[in-house]
Amino acid sequence: MLFQEKKKIEKQTDDLKKSDPFADPNHASDNAAVDTDVREQVGHDTIEAEIKALQRRLNDIELALSKMLKGKYGICERCGNPIPIARLKVLPEARYDVDCEKKLRR
Ligand SMILES: [Zn+2]
Repeated sequence: MLFQEKKKIEKQTDDLKKSDPFADPNHASDNAAVDTDVREQVGHDTIEAEIKALQRRLNDIELALSKMLKGKYGICERCGNPIPIARLKVLPEARYDVDCEKKLRR
């Protein structure tokens, strides 16, 4: 399940990179009007932010995968209690149980 999730995110990152207007090889040489450039800039920034968010998830998933190899997957990193399966189904890369997650976010 984590491997699938990882592949999915890697694909999403790829697609996002392709849809970045700055990735267009014609971008630098086109004589687009200023408003087009602004639009491209906004699109570029949005995509950058989305890619960063995806990469954060990817990091968490890789961490979860390495924990799985060590037999420590599904254990809360903060209190050491097992993370409920229901939570892992929704968020396979979860590092903490719900209680600890809430405390850490505060
Ligand atoms: Zn915990």
